[in-house]
Amino acid sequence: MGAQNDKTMDKLISLAKRRGFIFQSSEIYGGINSCYDYGPLGIELKKNIKELWWQSMVYERDDIEGVDASILMHPKVWEASGHVDGFTDPMVDCKQCKSRFREDQIDTQKPCPVCGTRDSFTEARQFNLMFKTYMGPVEDSGHIVFLRPETAQGIYVNFHNVREAARQKLPFGIAQIGKAFRNEITPGNYIFRTREFEQMEMQYFVKPGEDDEWFTYWKEQRFQWYDRLGLRREKLRFHGHAQDELAHYAKKAFDIEYEFPFGWHEIEGIHNRTDFDLGRHKEHSGKDLRYYDDQSKERFIPYIIETSIGTDRTLLTCLIDAYTEEEERVVLKLAPSIAPIKVAVFPLVKRDGMPEIAKNIAADLRGKYRVFYDEGGSIGRRYRRQDEAGTPYCLTVDTQTMEDQTVTVRERDSMEQERIKMDDLQAYLEDKLKF
Ligand code: ATP
Repeated sequence: MGAQNDKTMDKLISLAKRRGFIFQSSEIYGGINSCYDYGPLGIELKKNIKELWWQSMVYERDDIEGVDASILMHPKVWEASGHVDGFTDPMVDCKQCKSRFREDQIDTQKPCPVCGTRDSFTEARQFNLMFKTYMGPVEDSGHIVFLRPETAQGIYVNFHNVREAARQKLPFGIAQIGKAFRNEITPGNYIFRTREFEQMEMQYFVKPGEDDEWFTYWKEQRFQWYDRLGLRREKLRFHGHAQDELAHYAKKAFDIEYEFPFGWHEIEGIHNRTDFDLGRHKEHSGKDLRYYDDQSKERFIPYIIETSIGTDRTLLTCLIDAYTEEEERVVLKLAPSIAPIKVAVFPLVKRDGMPEIAKNIAADLRGKYRVFYDEGGSIGRRYRRQDEAGTPYCLTVDTQTMEDQTVTVRERDSMEQERIKMDDLQAYLEDKLKF
């Protein structure tokens, strides 16, 4: 990572803490590696990202249903899925400084990136990334359960439940947002790679033979979604997996990558998982997971097209993409739809009845939007604070308000100001802040 890039990340991390987006977990005890807590603004941003995803994947369609499966599942799920045997990363240690690396993330022919020693790496060992724990008071091998390393399996095992309950026919999908856990060998880059994270996954069940077409469809749909998130197009690209990069279950895979200050990296994966998942669960559970197509009168195991995106990684992407340093200010140019606070309301001064009017405006808007009322400090400083929080609109009650019932509306990115009648504020904001 270059010095400049280091600085960008450092500045962003400091802003995120200062403004209450992200704190280190258990900070008063010195923190715990790679675990983070979302503060008042962070939780709003995260919630808005999840809502935008749910909106486009579930509410705007009639072929996708939601589930919320439990994190702990029957241990056989992870045998069937291939995670017990195969969810491993190759791990190497530097014999000199004892640093630990993922073999596929470094060049072992080169010196150790931490201490610079040559030929100091151990042979690679496969390390299983699943977190293990015990169900109930007895800690023996018969009671081992895993914290799920992906949300997808909770969808596969509910395939027939959801299909029957929601009366869906192929092609249809199941969406889920939830926590996943991976005991990553080298977490890092802030919330980019952590051991506990959230995923937003959608599994789309299709008839074999129609899978290529649906794969292309979802690849395009998902790429377009990032426009709604407000990300810069030139910072996004596809990375197609070569044959030797494909996961054991995948016939075809594309990642959507973003250019982070530390390089191009995946934020979402789109996979054609074939009939692998339902086939394996059918085999391991003994339950018939085939689908009966009443038109062709055939019974078959559906193919699955998966779209899988990390919520925390997306949130980091949004923060990085929005972070802008200008001559006199730092501003988060977040898309209004995901901005944590939509509107800030200020009285210009703390007298002449202005605070009362401003408080009334804030109260009227509350309930519909996340609103922030602030009467402390100079107006310039109050604007700057909201710029750093990414608040798209600031409303100021001033002397003219008393005369003509208008307020100043200041737009975050252009800093342009216009006067809007108080009676028209609801309609004005509704138009500006629509999803
Ligand atoms: P990598 O190769 O980087 O370990 P992966 O290909 O195993 O990632 P997937 O299993 O496809 O990742 O997971 C789907 C998405 O979940 C990723 O695109 C990412 O956004 C998110 N994700 C995966 N692992 C982590 C993690 N450790 N921390 C945060 N987000 C993660």
